[in-house]
Amino acid sequence: MFVDKATIKIKAGDGGDGAVSFHREKYVAAGGPDGGDGGKGGDIVFVPDDSLSTLIDFRYKRKYEAQRGQNGSGKNCTGKNGADLVIKVPRGTIIREKETGNILADISDDGPQIIAHGGKGGKGNARFATPTRQIPRFSKPGFTGQEAEVILELKLLADVGLVGFPNVGKSTLISVVSAAKPKIANYHFTTLTPVLGVVSVDEGRSFVMADIPGLIEGASEGVGLGHEFLRHVDRCRLIVHVVDVSGCEGRDPKDDFEVINRELAGFSEELAQRPQIVCANKCDMATPEQIAEFRAFIEEKGLPFFEISAATTMGTKELVNRIADELAKLPPIKRYEPEGDLRKFDEEAGKGQSFDIHRGDDAVFYVEAPWLEHIIRTVDMDDYMSLQYFQRVLRSSGIIDKLEEMGIEEGDTVNIFGFEFDFVF
Ligand code: GDP
Ligand code: MG
Repeated sequence: MFVDKATIKIKAGDGGDGAVSFHREKYVAAGGPDGGDGGKGGDIVFVPDDSLSTLIDFRYKRKYEAQRGQNGSGKNCTGKNGADLVIKVPRGTIIREKETGNILADISDDGPQIIAHGGKGGKGNARFATPTRQIPRFSKPGFTGQEAEVILELKLLADVGLVGFPNVGKSTLISVVSAAKPKIANYHFTTLTPVLGVVSVDEGRSFVMADIPGLIEGASEGVGLGHEFLRHVDRCRLIVHVVDVSGCEGRDPKDDFEVINRELAGFSEELAQRPQIVCANKCDMATPEQIAEFRAFIEEKGLPFFEISAATTMGTKELVNRIADELAKLPPIKRYEPEGDLRKFDEEAGKGQSFDIHRGDDAVFYVEAPWLEHIIRTVDMDDYMSLQYFQRVLRSSGIIDKLEEMGIEEGDTVNIFGFEFDFVF
Protein backbone atom coordinates (compact mmCIF):
# COMPACT_ATOMS: atom_id res chain seq x y z
CA MET A 1 0.00 0.00 0.00
CA PHE A 2 1.20 3.46 -0.84
CA VAL A 3 0.87 5.81 2.13
CA ASP A 4 1.97 9.39 1.77
CA LYS A 5 0.50 10.98 4.85
CA ALA A 6 0.71 10.03 8.51
CA THR A 7 0.34 11.61 11.91
CA ILE A 8 2.67 10.63 14.72
CA LYS A 9 3.61 11.77 18.20
CA ILE A 10 7.17 12.68 18.96
CA LYS A 11 8.71 13.38 22.32
CA ALA A 12 12.30 14.30 22.92
CA GLY A 13 13.91 13.07 26.12
CA ASP A 14 13.64 15.06 29.32
CA GLY A 15 16.83 16.23 30.91
CA GLY A 16 18.07 14.27 33.92
CA ASP A 17 17.80 15.88 37.34
CA GLY A 18 20.75 17.42 39.08
CA ALA A 19 21.94 15.62 42.21
CA VAL A 20 22.18 16.74 45.82
CA SER A 21 25.23 15.15 47.36
CA PHE A 22 28.09 16.02 49.69
CA HIS A 23 31.63 14.89 49.55
CA ARG A 24 32.35 12.16 52.08
CA GLU A 25 35.72 10.85 52.97
CA LYS A 26 37.11 9.20 56.03
CA TYR A 27 38.48 11.70 58.51
CA VAL A 28 37.25 14.62 56.39
CA ALA A 29 34.43 16.40 58.09
CA ALA A 30 31.81 18.51 56.32
CA GLY A 31 32.76 17.80 52.73
CA GLY A 32 31.55 20.26 50.11
CA PRO A 33 28.63 19.76 47.78
CA ASP A 34 29.44 17.38 44.91
CA GLY A 35 26.08 16.66 43.27
CA GLY A 36 26.56 16.42 39.49
CA ASP A 37 24.35 17.76 36.72
CA GLY A 38 21.74 15.70 34.93
CA GLY A 39 22.42 14.58 31.36
CA LYS A 40 20.64 16.08 28.36
CA GLY A 41 17.61 14.29 26.96
CA GLY A 42 17.89 12.77 23.48
CA ASP A 43 16.68 14.70 20.42
CA ILE A 44 14.19 13.52 17.84
CA VAL A 45 16.06 13.60 14.56
CA PHE A 46 14.80 13.00 11.03
CA VAL A 47 16.91 11.80 8.09
CA PRO A 48 16.03 10.95 4.49
CA ASP A 49 16.38 7.31 3.46
CA ASP A 50 16.29 6.50 -0.22
CA SER A 51 15.35 2.89 0.35
CA LEU A 52 11.96 4.07 1.63
CA SER A 53 9.25 5.15 -0.75
CA THR A 54 6.18 5.42 1.45
CA LEU A 55 5.22 6.46 4.96
CA ILE A 56 3.50 3.14 5.63
CA ASP A 57 5.62 2.31 8.69
CA PHE A 58 4.09 5.29 10.45
CA ARG A 59 0.62 3.79 10.16
CA TYR A 60 1.68 1.04 12.53
CA LYS A 61 3.94 2.81 14.95
CA ARG A 62 2.72 6.20 15.97
CA LYS A 63 4.68 7.11 19.10
CA TYR A 64 8.35 8.03 19.03
CA GLU A 65 10.19 8.89 22.18
CA ALA A 66 13.85 9.66 22.68
CA GLN A 67 15.71 8.63 25.80
CA ARG A 68 15.72 10.65 28.98
CA GLY A 69 18.99 12.04 30.31
CA GLN A 70 20.38 10.25 33.34
CA ASN A 71 20.26 11.96 36.69
CA GLY A 72 23.45 13.40 38.05
CA SER A 73 25.10 11.72 41.02
CA GLY A 74 27.64 12.29 43.73
CA LYS A 75 31.36 12.88 43.19
CA ASN A 76 30.40 15.48 40.60
CA CYS A 77 29.27 12.80 38.17
CA THR A 78 27.25 14.19 35.29
CA GLY A 79 24.40 11.97 34.13
CA LYS A 80 24.74 10.36 30.72
CA ASN A 81 22.97 12.10 27.85
CA GLY A 82 19.90 10.30 26.52
CA ALA A 83 20.34 8.75 23.09
CA ASP A 84 18.81 10.60 20.13
CA LEU A 85 16.02 8.87 18.28
CA VAL A 86 16.70 8.91 14.54
CA ILE A 87 13.59 8.52 12.40
CA LYS A 88 14.09 7.57 8.77
CA VAL A 89 11.63 8.89 6.21
CA PRO A 90 11.45 8.85 2.42
CA ARG A 91 13.24 11.75 0.82
CA GLY A 92 10.82 14.63 0.24
CA THR A 93 8.88 14.24 3.48
CA ILE A 94 7.51 17.47 4.93
CA ILE A 95 7.05 17.64 8.70
CA ARG A 96 4.29 19.84 10.02
CA GLU A 97 3.21 20.59 13.55
CA LYS A 98 -0.40 19.47 13.80
CA GLU A 99 -1.49 22.13 16.25
CA THR A 100 -0.28 25.13 14.28
CA GLY A 101 -0.02 23.71 10.77
CA ASN A 102 3.51 25.15 10.61
CA ILE A 103 6.10 23.41 8.49
CA LEU A 104 8.93 22.36 10.78
CA ALA A 105 11.22 20.84 8.16
CA ASP A 106 11.55 19.50 4.66
CA ILE A 107 13.54 16.26 4.74
CA SER A 108 14.87 16.44 1.20
CA ASP A 109 18.56 17.02 1.56
CA ASP A 110 21.12 14.79 3.18
CA GLY A 111 21.96 15.22 6.80
CA PRO A 112 19.98 14.91 10.01
CA GLN A 113 17.55 17.58 11.16
CA ILE A 114 16.57 17.96 14.80
CA ILE A 115 12.83 18.46 15.11
CA ALA A 116 12.30 18.09 18.86
CA HIS A 117 15.09 19.07 21.20
CA GLY A 118 15.84 17.09 24.30
CA GLY A 119 15.66 18.96 27.61
CA LYS A 120 18.86 20.16 29.21
CA GLY A 121 19.97 18.45 32.37
CA GLY A 122 19.28 20.11 35.72
CA LYS A 123 22.23 21.46 37.66
CA GLY A 124 23.56 19.56 40.63
CA ASN A 125 24.03 21.20 44.00
CA ALA A 126 27.76 21.56 43.45
CA ARG A 127 26.87 24.42 41.10
CA PHE A 128 25.09 26.37 43.77
CA ALA A 129 27.83 26.70 46.33
CA THR A 130 28.64 30.34 46.98
CA PRO A 131 30.63 31.95 49.75
CA THR A 132 27.40 32.74 51.57
CA ARG A 133 25.73 29.42 50.81
CA GLN A 134 28.24 26.68 51.39
CA ILE A 135 25.77 23.88 51.90
CA PRO A 136 23.26 24.09 49.07
CA ARG A 137 20.68 21.40 49.76
CA PHE A 138 18.93 21.73 46.46
CA SER A 139 19.52 20.95 42.81
CA LYS A 140 17.49 21.60 39.67
CA PRO A 141 15.21 19.20 37.89
CA GLY A 142 15.94 18.50 34.23
CA PHE A 143 14.19 20.46 31.50
CA THR A 144 11.29 18.92 29.66
CA GLY A 145 12.00 17.58 26.17
CA GLN A 146 9.92 19.08 23.39
CA GLU A 147 6.94 17.10 22.25
CA ALA A 148 4.32 17.46 19.58
CA GLU A 149 1.99 15.72 17.26
CA VAL A 150 3.34 16.05 13.75
CA ILE A 151 1.98 15.35 10.31
CA LEU A 152 4.34 13.68 7.86
CA GLU A 153 3.53 14.36 4.25
CA LEU A 154 5.48 12.99 1.34
CA LYS A 155 5.94 15.35 -1.57
CA LEU A 156 8.07 13.54 -4.08
CA LEU A 157 11.14 15.14 -5.48
CA ALA A 158 10.77 15.02 -9.22
CA ASP A 159 11.72 17.47 -11.93
CA VAL A 160 8.86 16.49 -14.17
CA GLY A 161 5.37 15.34 -13.33
CA LEU A 162 3.26 13.43 -15.82
CA VAL A 163 -0.38 14.33 -15.55
CA GLY A 164 -3.40 13.32 -17.57
CA PHE A 165 -6.52 11.19 -17.52
CA PRO A 166 -6.25 7.52 -16.65
CA ASN A 167 -5.32 5.31 -19.57
CA VAL A 168 -3.78 8.01 -21.76
CA GLY A 169 -0.38 6.32 -21.61
CA LYS A 170 1.53 8.01 -18.78
CA SER A 171 2.90 4.79 -17.36
CA THR A 172 3.82 3.57 -20.82
CA LEU A 173 5.71 6.80 -21.45
CA ILE A 174 7.77 6.63 -18.26
CA SER A 175 8.53 2.97 -18.92
CA VAL A 176 10.02 3.71 -22.34
CA VAL A 177 12.10 6.75 -21.35
CA SER A 178 13.42 5.44 -18.02
CA ALA A 179 14.13 2.20 -16.24
CA ALA A 180 10.97 2.54 -14.16
CA LYS A 181 8.60 -0.41 -14.49
CA PRO A 182 5.11 0.75 -13.60
CA LYS A 183 2.03 -1.37 -14.17
CA ILE A 184 0.57 -0.78 -17.59
CA ALA A 185 -2.92 -1.98 -18.38
CA ASN A 186 -5.83 -1.04 -20.48
CA TYR A 187 -8.15 -0.04 -17.69
CA HIS A 188 -8.49 2.95 -15.41
CA PHE A 189 -6.76 3.31 -12.04
CA THR A 190 -3.99 0.89 -12.80
CA THR A 191 -1.45 3.16 -11.28
CA LEU A 192 -2.09 3.62 -7.58
CA THR A 193 1.43 4.52 -6.61
CA PRO A 194 3.42 7.39 -8.02
CA VAL A 195 6.43 5.98 -9.82
CA LEU A 196 9.72 7.78 -10.18
CA GLY A 197 12.04 7.19 -13.09
CA VAL A 198 15.41 8.65 -13.92
CA VAL A 199 15.59 9.74 -17.54
CA SER A 200 19.09 9.95 -18.99
CA VAL A 201 19.15 12.23 -21.99
CA ASP A 202 22.78 12.19 -22.90
CA GLU A 203 26.00 12.39 -20.99
CA GLY A 204 25.62 14.46 -17.84
CA ARG A 205 22.03 15.31 -18.56
CA SER A 206 19.37 13.46 -16.66
CA PHE A 207 16.22 14.27 -14.76
CA VAL A 208 13.65 12.60 -12.56
CA MET A 209 10.18 11.98 -13.94
CA ALA A 210 7.15 11.10 -11.83
CA ASP A 211 4.13 9.19 -13.08
CA ILE A 212 1.26 10.69 -11.08
CA PRO A 213 -1.73 8.39 -11.03
CA GLY A 214 -5.46 8.79 -10.98
CA LEU A 215 -5.97 12.40 -11.88
CA ILE A 216 -9.60 12.58 -12.87
CA GLU A 217 -12.32 15.18 -12.98
CA GLY A 218 -13.13 16.42 -9.49
CA ALA A 219 -9.76 15.35 -8.15
CA SER A 220 -9.05 18.65 -6.43
CA GLU A 221 -12.35 18.35 -4.55
CA GLY A 222 -11.44 14.93 -3.31
CA VAL A 223 -13.17 12.77 -5.91
CA GLY A 224 -11.17 9.72 -6.85
CA LEU A 225 -7.55 9.44 -5.85
CA GLY A 226 -5.98 12.27 -7.76
CA HIS A 227 -6.46 14.80 -5.04
CA GLU A 228 -4.27 12.72 -2.76
CA PHE A 229 -1.64 12.45 -5.45
CA LEU A 230 -1.63 16.04 -6.64
CA ARG A 231 0.69 17.01 -3.82
CA HIS A 232 3.37 15.04 -5.60
CA VAL A 233 3.19 17.37 -8.57
CA ASP A 234 3.62 20.26 -6.20
CA ARG A 235 7.39 20.34 -6.39
CA CYS A 236 7.73 19.44 -10.06
CA ARG A 237 9.47 22.10 -12.07
CA LEU A 238 7.69 21.16 -15.24
CA ILE A 239 4.43 19.43 -16.03
CA VAL A 240 4.15 17.09 -18.98
CA HIS A 241 0.50 16.88 -19.80
CA VAL A 242 -0.29 13.63 -21.60
CA VAL A 243 -3.45 13.52 -23.70
CA ASP A 244 -4.89 10.63 -25.70
CA VAL A 245 -5.21 12.40 -29.06
CA SER A 246 -6.88 9.40 -30.70
CA GLY A 247 -9.89 9.83 -28.45
CA CYS A 248 -10.06 6.04 -28.49
CA GLU A 249 -12.14 6.06 -25.35
CA GLY A 250 -14.78 8.29 -26.89
CA ARG A 251 -13.47 11.43 -25.23
CA ASP A 252 -12.46 14.71 -26.79
CA PRO A 253 -8.76 15.50 -26.23
CA LYS A 254 -9.52 19.21 -25.94
CA ASP A 255 -12.02 18.60 -23.13
CA ASP A 256 -9.57 16.28 -21.39
CA PHE A 257 -6.91 18.94 -21.54
CA GLU A 258 -9.17 21.61 -20.03
CA VAL A 259 -10.53 19.35 -17.31
CA ILE A 260 -7.09 18.37 -16.07
CA ASN A 261 -5.92 21.96 -16.07
CA ARG A 262 -8.94 22.98 -14.04
CA GLU A 263 -8.02 20.26 -11.55
CA LEU A 264 -4.50 21.58 -11.25
CA ALA A 265 -5.81 25.10 -10.71
CA GLY A 266 -8.28 23.79 -8.14
CA PHE A 267 -5.38 22.32 -6.19
CA SER A 268 -3.32 25.47 -6.37
CA GLU A 269 -3.17 28.45 -8.68
CA GLU A 270 0.60 28.17 -8.56
CA LEU A 271 0.41 24.69 -9.99
CA ALA A 272 -1.74 25.92 -12.87
CA GLN A 273 0.98 28.45 -13.73
CA ARG A 274 3.74 25.81 -13.78
CA PRO A 275 5.43 25.47 -17.21
CA GLN A 276 3.72 22.76 -19.22
CA ILE A 277 4.55 20.68 -22.25
CA VAL A 278 1.63 19.04 -24.00
CA CYS A 279 2.09 15.59 -25.30
CA ALA A 280 -0.39 14.14 -27.81
CA ASN A 281 -0.06 10.40 -27.24
CA LYS A 282 -1.36 7.41 -29.20
CA CYS A 283 -0.57 9.18 -32.47
CA ASP A 284 -0.24 5.73 -34.01
CA MET A 285 -3.98 5.33 -33.59
CA ALA A 286 -5.07 8.88 -34.41
CA THR A 287 -5.98 10.33 -37.78
CA PRO A 288 -3.88 13.21 -39.17
CA GLU A 289 -6.97 15.44 -38.84
CA GLN A 290 -7.33 14.62 -35.14
CA ILE A 291 -3.71 15.45 -34.53
CA ALA A 292 -3.79 18.66 -36.56
CA GLU A 293 -6.91 19.90 -34.80
CA PHE A 294 -5.45 19.30 -31.35
CA ARG A 295 -2.12 20.80 -32.34
CA ALA A 296 -3.81 24.01 -33.48
CA PHE A 297 -5.75 24.16 -30.22
CA ILE A 298 -2.62 23.84 -28.08
CA GLU A 299 -0.36 26.06 -30.18
CA GLU A 300 -2.97 28.79 -29.99
CA LYS A 301 -2.37 28.73 -26.23
CA GLY A 302 1.32 29.18 -26.87
CA LEU A 303 2.29 25.84 -25.31
CA PRO A 304 4.96 23.47 -26.63
CA PHE A 305 3.30 20.55 -28.43
CA PHE A 306 4.68 17.06 -29.09
CA GLU A 307 3.25 14.22 -31.12
CA ILE A 308 4.27 10.88 -29.71
CA SER A 309 3.37 7.27 -29.48
CA ALA A 310 4.60 5.95 -26.18
CA ALA A 311 3.80 2.39 -27.24
CA THR A 312 6.04 2.55 -30.32
CA THR A 313 8.42 5.18 -28.82
CA MET A 314 7.77 7.43 -31.80
CA GLY A 315 8.69 11.03 -30.86
CA THR A 316 9.77 10.20 -27.32
CA LYS A 317 13.44 11.02 -27.90
CA GLU A 318 12.54 14.50 -29.14
CA LEU A 319 10.23 14.96 -26.19
CA VAL A 320 12.91 13.98 -23.69
CA ASN A 321 15.41 16.37 -25.26
CA ARG A 322 12.97 19.22 -25.11
CA ILE A 323 12.17 18.48 -21.46
CA ALA A 324 15.88 18.59 -20.61
CA ASP A 325 16.24 21.93 -22.45
CA GLU A 326 13.30 23.43 -20.59
CA LEU A 327 14.55 22.17 -17.22
CA ALA A 328 17.92 23.81 -17.80
CA LYS A 329 16.10 27.16 -17.83
CA LEU A 330 14.07 26.52 -14.69
CA PRO A 331 14.92 27.01 -11.01
CA PRO A 332 15.82 23.91 -8.96
CA ILE A 333 13.24 21.71 -7.25
CA LYS A 334 11.36 23.53 -4.55
CA ARG A 335 12.37 23.14 -0.92
CA TYR A 336 9.97 24.14 1.83
CA GLU A 337 11.27 26.59 4.38
CA PRO A 338 10.48 26.02 8.05
CA GLU A 339 7.66 28.22 9.31
CA GLY A 340 8.32 27.81 13.00
CA ASP A 341 9.69 25.50 15.66
CA LEU A 342 8.21 23.67 18.59
CA ARG A 343 8.82 26.30 21.22
CA LYS A 344 5.61 27.36 22.88
CA PHE A 345 5.09 30.93 23.95
CA ASP A 346 1.60 31.13 25.36
CA GLU A 347 1.47 34.71 26.57
CA GLU A 348 -1.80 34.08 28.37
CA ALA A 349 -0.46 31.18 30.40
CA GLY A 350 -0.31 33.22 33.59
CA LYS A 351 -3.64 35.02 33.39
CA GLY A 352 -5.96 34.36 36.32
CA GLN A 353 -3.61 31.78 37.86
CA SER A 354 -3.15 31.79 41.60
CA PHE A 355 0.17 32.03 43.38
CA ASP A 356 1.64 32.63 46.74
CA ILE A 357 4.74 34.60 47.67
CA HIS A 358 6.54 34.57 50.98
CA ARG A 359 9.79 35.99 52.15
CA GLY A 360 12.24 33.54 53.67
CA ASP A 361 14.63 34.16 56.55
CA ASP A 362 17.31 34.56 53.92
CA ALA A 363 15.42 37.56 52.49
CA VAL A 364 14.74 35.62 49.30
CA PHE A 365 11.24 35.96 47.79
CA TYR A 366 9.82 32.47 47.30
CA VAL A 367 7.14 32.20 44.65
CA GLU A 368 4.80 29.20 44.89
CA ALA A 369 2.74 28.59 41.78
CA PRO A 370 2.28 24.99 40.66
CA TRP A 371 1.24 26.00 37.14
CA LEU A 372 4.60 27.75 36.67
CA GLU A 373 6.59 24.59 37.12
CA HIS A 374 5.77 23.28 33.66
CA ILE A 375 6.62 26.62 32.07
CA ILE A 376 9.87 27.01 33.94
CA ARG A 377 10.92 23.53 32.90
CA THR A 378 10.37 24.22 29.23
CA VAL A 379 11.84 27.70 29.09
CA ASP A 380 15.52 27.95 28.34
CA MET A 381 16.87 30.80 30.43
CA ASP A 382 19.93 31.13 28.23
CA ASP A 383 17.73 31.93 25.27
CA TYR A 384 16.72 35.56 24.95
CA MET A 385 13.29 34.90 23.40
CA SER A 386 12.45 32.38 26.09
CA LEU A 387 13.56 34.68 28.85
CA GLN A 388 11.46 37.54 27.50
CA TYR A 389 8.50 35.25 27.34
CA PHE A 390 9.03 34.10 30.88
CA GLN A 391 9.09 37.68 32.08
CA ARG A 392 5.83 38.42 30.28
CA VAL A 393 4.21 35.44 31.96
CA LEU A 394 5.36 36.70 35.36
CA ARG A 395 3.91 40.08 34.57
CA SER A 396 0.59 38.91 33.14
CA SER A 397 -0.02 36.62 36.10
CA GLY A 398 0.41 39.55 38.52
CA ILE A 399 3.49 38.05 40.20
CA ILE A 400 5.64 41.08 39.44
CA ASP A 401 3.02 43.51 40.77
CA LYS A 402 2.73 41.48 43.93
CA LEU A 403 6.51 41.42 44.42
CA GLU A 404 6.62 45.18 44.06
CA GLU A 405 3.76 45.52 46.53
CA MET A 406 5.81 43.48 48.97
CA GLY A 407 8.63 45.98 48.59
CA ILE A 408 11.07 44.09 46.41
CA GLU A 409 14.10 46.06 45.36
CA GLU A 410 16.49 45.85 42.47
CA GLY A 411 19.00 43.07 43.03
CA ASP A 412 16.83 41.09 45.47
CA THR A 413 16.64 37.38 44.86
CA VAL A 414 13.49 35.63 43.66
CA ASN A 415 13.25 31.85 43.93
CA ILE A 416 10.82 29.86 41.81
CA PHE A 417 11.09 26.08 42.20
CA GLY A 418 14.73 26.40 43.07
CA PHE A 419 15.50 28.61 40.10
CA GLU A 420 16.91 31.85 41.45
CA PHE A 421 16.79 35.21 39.74
CA ASP A 422 18.01 38.66 40.55
CA PHE A 423 15.15 41.04 40.40
CA VAL A 424 15.64 43.82 37.84
CA PHE A 425 13.10 46.45 36.88
P1 GDP B 1 -1.93 5.48 -17.83
O1 GDP B 1 -3.18 5.08 -17.08
O2 GDP B 1 -2.01 6.89 -18.30
O3 GDP B 1 -0.70 5.21 -17.04
O4 GDP B 1 -1.91 4.58 -19.14
P2 GDP B 1 -1.06 3.27 -19.47
O5 GDP B 1 0.36 3.64 -19.75
O6 GDP B 1 -1.30 2.24 -18.42
O7 GDP B 1 -1.71 2.85 -20.85
C1 GDP B 1 -3.07 2.53 -20.98
C2 GDP B 1 -3.27 1.70 -22.22
O8 GDP B 1 -2.95 2.46 -23.38
C3 GDP B 1 -2.39 0.46 -22.25
O9 GDP B 1 -3.12 -0.60 -22.79
C4 GDP B 1 -1.26 0.87 -23.18
O10 GDP B 1 -0.69 -0.23 -23.84
C5 GDP B 1 -1.98 1.79 -24.16
N1 GDP B 1 -1.08 2.76 -24.78
C6 GDP B 1 -0.21 3.57 -24.15
N2 GDP B 1 0.44 4.34 -25.03
C7 GDP B 1 -0.02 4.01 -26.25
C8 GDP B 1 0.27 4.46 -27.58
O11 GDP B 1 1.12 5.33 -27.83
N3 GDP B 1 -0.42 3.88 -28.59
C9 GDP B 1 -1.35 2.93 -28.36
N4 GDP B 1 -1.96 2.40 -29.40
N5 GDP B 1 -1.64 2.46 -27.14
C10 GDP B 1 -0.99 3.00 -26.10
MG1 MG C 1 -0.61 4.54 -15.20
